[in-house]
Amino acid sequence: MKVTFLCTRAYIDASNPLHRRHSALLLANGGGRVLVDCGLDWAEALPGLHPEAVVLTHAHADHSGGLASGAPCPVYATAATWEAIADYPLAERETVEPRRPFSLCGMLFEAFALRHSLRAPAVGYRIRAGETSLFYAPDLAAIDERREALAGVDLYIGDGSALHDGLLRVEEETLCGHAPVATQLGWCAREGVQRVLFTHCGEAIVPGEEAVLAEEVAAEALQRGVLAIFAHDGMEIELH
Ligand SMILES: [Zn+2]
Ligand SMILES: [Zn+2]
Repeated sequence: MKVTFLCTRAYIDASNPLHRRHSALLLANGGGRVLVDCGLDWAEALPGLHPEAVVLTHAHADHSGGLASGAPCPVYATAATWEAIADYPLAERETVEPRRPFSLCGMLFEAFALRHSLRAPAVGYRIRAGETSLFYAPDLAAIDERREALAGVDLYIGDGSALHDGLLRVEEETLCGHAPVATQLGWCAREGVQRVLFTHCGEAIVPGEEAVLAEEVAAEALQRGVLAIFAHDGMEIELH
């Protein structure tokens, strides 16, 4: 499975050459390609990517807005996400249910419920191809079934929105927003995940001193036995 970070920017105004457009991940396996998330600024580029399918994590515009004019392939999303984007002209709609795996291009996708937003409930995906697996959650405050989601995962791709807890909030007794990078490193250390990449880079990273911040995060991760870096646009990883 080849993982390409097409773009790595959160829903923020700032951008730079490393983080130009909204987070989108392209997974290629055995000649097939699956796009995970398609934010507002992907609408024009989508047809040129020729994906076999688009899989959505949630309905926020930086993850689904690129589909507002349609899609050239089937789209997979949870019932809650479909409700939020009901007016999008998408002919081929597949409904994703948490913990019920489905297969695309030889990759097995399993959705896990996340805490992130009450209005746009999100899922993360555990994705397996052959002997390798990753977990992808670009926006999250917490994972309900964290142990099950991360057990045996080779790579965690998480939410780079926040270095500290300023983007977390509680709504109706539910944690919402974005978990700090350090918190996610703690989850990975506890569940034995040794490789971490942060995408969906936010205000803390994009307009700031990324090189310095990345070094601090990498050092903190190493203390926990984890290798962690920030993803940038165009980054490619082969998982075997
Ligand atoms: Zn979101
Ligand atoms: Zn987002």
